[in-house]
Amino acid sequence: MEYNCAVDTRSFYIHWPFCPYRCHFCPFVAISGQDHLMGQYHKALMKEIITFAQKTAPLGPLETIYLGGGTPSTWPNELLLDMFGILRDTFDLSKISEITLEANPGTVQKEQLAVWKEAGITRLSIGVQSLDDEVLRKLNRHQKVSDVYQLINWAQHEFDALSVDLIIGLPGIEEAQWKSMIHEVVQWPVNHISMYFLSIHENTPLYTRLVKNELTLPPEDPIVDLYYWTVEAFAKAGLEQYEISSFARAGFQAQHNQVYWERKPYKGFGIGSCSFDGQRRLQNIKNVMHYMKLLEEGKDIEASSELLTPEQIRLEKVMLGLRRMKGLVISDVLHDMTDQERNRFMYNMQEFEIEGLVKQSGGILYLNKSVVAVENEVALRLLQ
Ligand code: SF4
Repeated sequence: MEYNCAVDTRSFYIHWPFCPYRCHFCPFVAISGQDHLMGQYHKALMKEIITFAQKTAPLGPLETIYLGGGTPSTWPNELLLDMFGILRDTFDLSKISEITLEANPGTVQKEQLAVWKEAGITRLSIGVQSLDDEVLRKLNRHQKVSDVYQLINWAQHEFDALSVDLIIGLPGIEEAQWKSMIHEVVQWPVNHISMYFLSIHENTPLYTRLVKNELTLPPEDPIVDLYYWTVEAFAKAGLEQYEISSFARAGFQAQHNQVYWERKPYKGFGIGSCSFDGQRRLQNIKNVMHYMKLLEEGKDIEASSELLTPEQIRLEKVMLGLRRMKGLVISDVLHDMTDQERNRFMYNMQEFEIEGLVKQSGGILYLNKSVVAVENEVALRLLQ
């Protein structure tokens, strides 16, 4: 089944898969060494967007667009401007509140920032990850601290909304070094930080090295302690936590991510991109050659389409609700449960409250801050 084009869709995710290198920890749909395909991919991507527009009744004004990757900062200027020309001709962008582009240090020329502004981009998400060149190099990420400083320096004059991504738990980063980086990062002219735990995904070189005992990861407990230390450090610097991995100064919470967390519809374009039409979760095929060929032939490019069951919807609501500091509206998950399910959920909630995992107040369930690192487990057990 295809994306339901009758749905009131206000957000787009657009995927640019090209990267100058392949980081060893990367689980994303990314390709390196294939830049000669950029023009052809762009053409296919535009065809996907235009075909979607032809199938839908005119959409209401779009609210957010997210250009993710891959490395969207390698998008050639003329192709990026061409896409925004098509988007403006095809959809109503007059009320858009946020257009984010992911940019990686070391892949940007100063002139691009003016082009991004001209295109309408309002927010940059900069992939810093670490300030240790050597640690990053060992993970096949070839960026330098000087690239980070340069990009932030350029970007602060062009964009109000700047976010940086950091990874906590990278092998080779000591506690003192992490703390010193955080002290520095909070001084930067950025108003949003995303901090992710390093996760090991199968089929990545990092996973293979671990399996072969060629690499040791830092032990988990000290990393969790360091996470809590960092949450405090961000709070002291005015970066309020609003989601497990997300911290922002007032007025700078990421709008596009709220769409995901609130389970609102969004349409994804490009290889591997995901969409949600309110009932189904869909994903495009990941192979770039197939994607381009199928679009050329006017064929379907979806790899999967799953109609969510009531149980899956509930689990999504609980997980997404607990991840956020504003919590889970309890009635949102109770309303379609049987009496037996409702009783079990209420019982679990009370037990978890006694255990100190969650707390309830005014019909909202909050995850206790001291257990955010095991949020998934708590969500799963709540529904057992
Ligand atoms: S730059 Fe990002 S998308 Fe590209 S390989 Fe590295 S982690 Fe993956």
